[in-house]
Amino acid sequence: MSAQRTLRRSVSCAGIGLHSGNKVTLVLKPAPADYGIRFVRTDLAGLEIPATVTHLGGISYATGLARETGSVETVEHLLAALSTLGVDNVRIELDYPEVPIMDGSAAPFVYLVHEAGVKRLPAPRRYLKVVRPITLSQGDKHIALYPSDYFKVTYSISFDHPLLRHQSRTIRVNEETFVEEIAPARTFGFLKEIEMLRQRGLALGGSLENAIVLGETGVLNHTLRFEDEFVRHKILDVLGDLALLGYPVMGHLVAHRGGHALHTAFAAKVLEDTHAWKLVEATLDPAAVGAPVRVPVTSAARLAS
Ligand SMILES: [Zn+2]
Repeated sequence: MSAQRTLRRSVSCAGIGLHSGNKVTLVLKPAPADYGIRFVRTDLAGLEIPATVTHLGGISYATGLARETGSVETVEHLLAALSTLGVDNVRIELDYPEVPIMDGSAAPFVYLVHEAGVKRLPAPRRYLKVVRPITLSQGDKHIALYPSDYFKVTYSISFDHPLLRHQSRTIRVNEETFVEEIAPARTFGFLKEIEMLRQRGLALGGSLENAIVLGETGVLNHTLRFEDEFVRHKILDVLGDLALLGYPVMGHLVAHRGGHALHTAFAAKVLEDTHAWKLVEATLDPAAVGAPVRVPVTSAARLAS
């Protein structure tokens, strides 16, 4: 994990936007070292929107980015897959302002990165190493980063619903644990909330094909991919939101009852708290530059639903 990485070749997929229900084509293209992750609106003369905290846009049920007159919505699942699979530099072209929702998880994006392949670039990667605790609370919602030699996430949720009164999980984040334990976990929503969103012209693309829908006592979908799929999806969301820091994290993230608003406010606070972390540059192995990297892919057994 020393050199920056990009894709070996371009790949694309098509799907629908969760909120608009419109068809959108997504193309991932290789990019040079220090390019970072940038969205490109091909329908807006190639307007670039870097995936960084400084370009945060609307945050409600998903994370959005904006620059000048353009925006992109629902970026978090794609960003979680790219950042956790170590794709530091990539150009993401979209012909519509929403990343396709696919099956509501990050597994289709893992598959896409696997198809493209990953290679090392001739530049060292820099890590954001946490040296002092950073915390943020909003009411009964909390999030914090603590020093740790590797990236770890502990997430807990509690809702007033019989299926998810309390769920908690800790994961040491690496490519293998991400693709098998986190990437397949799908978006979830409450039926009564979805009806309200539809009345406001949102969630028009939402269905049991791309979200777990919770009724009063259970799920409308036939099965879950994991018993605790809900908290796993929250980990997926926070990984995507923390990708906006622009550096992989070395630290222990602990969150309770968070959502995109808290995650992204926290990412902004982390970047401001410059005394609480330092950038650590990895040592580059010149022999490894250009060499392909093995990309794990989510096993089919995990995707049953
Ligand atoms: Zn999500």
